[in-house]
Amino acid sequence: MSWERSPLARHLKSIINTYGWKCKCGEEMIMSAVKVQSIPTCLMCDKLMYMMYSINPSGGVWMNKSLLLDGEFE
Ligand SMILES: [Zn+2]
Repeated sequence: MSWERSPLARHLKSIINTYGWKCKCGEEMIMSAVKVQSIPTCLMCDKLMYMMYSINPSGGVWMNKSLLLDGEFE
C-alpha cells in the first residue's frame, strides 16, 4: 500500500490546510499545516511574512483582501 492511500495520509489530508505567504521583498512560501503556530520569517531578508491565502481541506480558499486592493499589506 502506498503512503498516499494509507489511512494516516488520508486523515492528514482531511485536516491539513495550505497557507501561502509572501514577503515585501517578493519571496513566497507555501506551508502545509493543521494550523498556523507562528508567522514565518522570510528566508531572504528575515522579516515577518504575511498571509496571501489559505486553502482548507475541503478546498475552500481564503484570500487576503488587502492584497486584492492594491497589492500592499500593512
Ligand atoms: Zn523578504
